[in-house]
Amino acid sequence: MSTYEIRLFGDPVLRQRAAEVTEIDGRLARLATDMVETMYAAPGAGLAATQVGVDKRLFVYDDGEGDGPRTIVNPVITESRGEWAFEEGCLSVPGLHWTIVRPKEVHLTGYDIEGNELSIEADEYLARIFQHELDHLDGILLLERLDKQTRKDAMRTLRNRGLVRGVPAGEGSGL
Ligand code: ZN
Repeated sequence: MSTYEIRLFGDPVLRQRAAEVTEIDGRLARLATDMVETMYAAPGAGLAATQVGVDKRLFVYDDGEGDGPRTIVNPVITESRGEWAFEEGCLSVPGLHWTIVRPKEVHLTGYDIEGNELSIEADEYLARIFQHELDHLDGILLLERLDKQTRKDAMRTLRNRGLVRGVPAGEGSGL
């Protein structure tokens, strides 16, 4: 097992839409294992393949409820309901977090790392992880989920910090 370097805000790979996974095999399982290790080392609760520079639609997560870590391949949110405000951070934008309102519940489909079809009903924190990681696979960072003024302030903070490089990660809120 080994860990990846987590790509930070400003890296163009974070703006790319990742490609569908066409084969779930031993190589993909190794990637997932290394991503899990990278996520725990950060530490974070979720990590998308694009965050380690890999162009594949896959993310790993552990919501701390005891059944993690888990891997989702080719995830799709098929339904979302309600609204929920949550203080959200990102491992690719370390040390910063914002209250972001997103749907409270989502239904997610995809595949596990053995190739079994998944259909998961998620609420609150788990739903937030799914939406955040899926955004990464679509090349969207949480900054784009901020209102205009908050985003302006955030961009100024990032500029003042030299585009976040060298800033220590926050405490466990990273996704
Ligand atoms: Zn993130």
